[in-house]
Amino acid sequence: MLRPLPRTRRLPTHHLGLSARELGPALLAPFHRSNGLQARFERLWAGRFPDRRTLPMPLGRHALWFFLEAAGLEPGDEVLVPAYNYYVIVRLLLQRGLVPVFVDVEADTACLDPIDLARKVSPRSRMVLATHIFGHPANISEIARICAAHELLLFEDCAHALGTTYEGTQVGSFGNGSLFSFGIWKLISSFGGGMLVCDDELYARLGRAALDPRASLWRDFSDLAGRFMIALSMRPGLYGFTAEPMLALLRRLDERGSPGLRQQFAPNKDDPDYRFDPNERSGYHPFMSATIEAQLERLEARIAARRTVVDAIEARLAELPELRLLAHDRHGRANASYLGVWAPDSEALARSLEARGIGCNPHEFFDCGRLAQFAPFAAHNPVAAEISDHVIRLPSYADMSERDIDALCGAIEHHYRARSGGARHRRDSGERHGRVHARAWQTSSQS
Ligand SMILES: *Cc1c(COP(=O)(O)O)cnc(C)c1O
Repeated sequence: MLRPLPRTRRLPTHHLGLSARELGPALLAPFHRSNGLQARFERLWAGRFPDRRTLPMPLGRHALWFFLEAAGLEPGDEVLVPAYNYYVIVRLLLQRGLVPVFVDVEADTACLDPIDLARKVSPRSRMVLATHIFGHPANISEIARICAAHELLLFEDCAHALGTTYEGTQVGSFGNGSLFSFGIWKLISSFGGGMLVCDDELYARLGRAALDPRASLWRDFSDLAGRFMIALSMRPGLYGFTAEPMLALLRRLDERGSPGLRQQFAPNKDDPDYRFDPNERSGYHPFMSATIEAQLERLEARIAARRTVVDAIEARLAELPELRLLAHDRHGRANASYLGVWAPDSEALARSLEARGIGCNPHEFFDCGRLAQFAPFAAHNPVAAEISDHVIRLPSYADMSERDIDALCGAIEHHYRARSGGARHRRDSGERHGRVHARAWQTSSQS
């Protein structure tokens, strides 16, 4: 029996849920002083990264950029990266003259698969880039062991993974360096900003640009104001009047062949024209440390609340045979920053949810080994391809009410049970799903 669909407020895919105390420093941005910015930043992080240096960055991607500059890699050196990834990361490697080697991911965590990694190490390999994607901890001790055995550098992409732990330790200090991001789509946000975490050896080799986060508020104003407005329009109370109708309009424009506008509001995660320029983004501002500090105080509570929301959503979705849930905690404890779910028809499901005003993203990330923009490095990674085609990101923020959860799950149940033609369809798609997924699993356990 179908439960009736509850009426609901519109739900964004993500929102920051900032309290007045956390938001305050951003509003007072012009009055923050930059004296001692670096020292304050290091104090902020000393508890989480006791034996590392921590440096403020304009964005998370700058951390990788400056790491690559300091790491002493030569053009043509190979960097092993998970194929299921954010294209910007791969783009940065190319701009540094490096050769990306796409490695498959684990079917249940979407993180770098150490077995495929070991197979793809070559005499030209110099570095491994491991991503704790969706905030799932990767199998980082096994990856670090492979790096040590082959004398490879290890860099962790922790853009999603603040508060994610492996054997009780915050991820990001298992290798030589790591990046964190405080963009508006992330778990903790200062409306931009990022962090490089690195060991003393790498720190000693960093160039001047990496060590100088000076920024001018007035020069950067439009960048910051734009991010602020987008973040504000994603607040659930406002979303239904601001971002949601805007996104609906942009989808309509998209369908008529003018995708340019959408890029501003809901950035495409596969933009072939993207080129990184470390100087073109607004810098790290003193107010960001105060905003981050206030959020760090309740990070653990927020993660606990998000995990409760994810548990409630997944308990409902587990009853749908079409869907497959990921194993967030397989290698440690995830921070529940992204809720990805495997669906046989992720595109169609996304359209159903969007039609009800529920934000979601069927293409949060891609199998980069199949993207046209990386054609010279094309690679066949069956699990990454599966995940890229089928995993959809659902809303999962800390303050989702029971009604919100009911609305989300109810909309998904409707999509599969009511919409298109009853039991026959259900059985077919279930079978198709089962087969495809079994293949993905086989690949990862055989490899
Ligand atoms: C957001 C993100 C980054 C980079 O963060 P920015 O602050 O936007 O530069 C890196 N990797 C992944 C997987 C991300 O999602």
